[in-house]
Amino acid sequence: MHESLFHGVPRSKIPWYPTINYEKCLSCGKCVNYCKHDVYGVEEKQGKRMPLRNADTCIVYCDGCDDICPSGAISHPSKLETGKIISKLSPQKSSYFDYYISRSHLFSLLFLSLQFFQ
Ligand code: SF4
Ligand code: SF4
Repeated sequence: MHESLFHGVPRSKIPWYPTINYEKCLSCGKCVNYCKHDVYGVEEKQGKRMPLRNADTCIVYCDGCDDICPSGAISHPSKLETGKIISKLSPQKSSYFDYYISRSHLFSLLFLSLQFFQ
């Protein structure tokens, strides 16, 4: 079976996946029910149902489960840093990093224009 690509980069080379802080995790299962991409499974550990992670099925740049975790136990890497990695590895010219940078410039220009006209 062929590995999926994101902007021409094999998914396994992109370090985008949720990290679970098990010290904060309440074993509520919300992340397991929320994610529709089979990223989470459940394992019994010391009588608690703990979420498990299947990193490669997490959708690149989705971080929806970070917000639904009631204890803030889930986090994702920086989108900007991930964009840099994808940009370096991608055979395609246009990347999320380019988009991110151009959008930041646009906001900076808008901000400067507003300052000028005050
Ligand atoms: S939503 Fe958060 S607290 Fe609940 S099981 Fe998932 S990681 Fe643990
Ligand atoms: S970020 Fe999105 S795709 Fe990835 S585990 Fe969370 S809900 Fe699923």
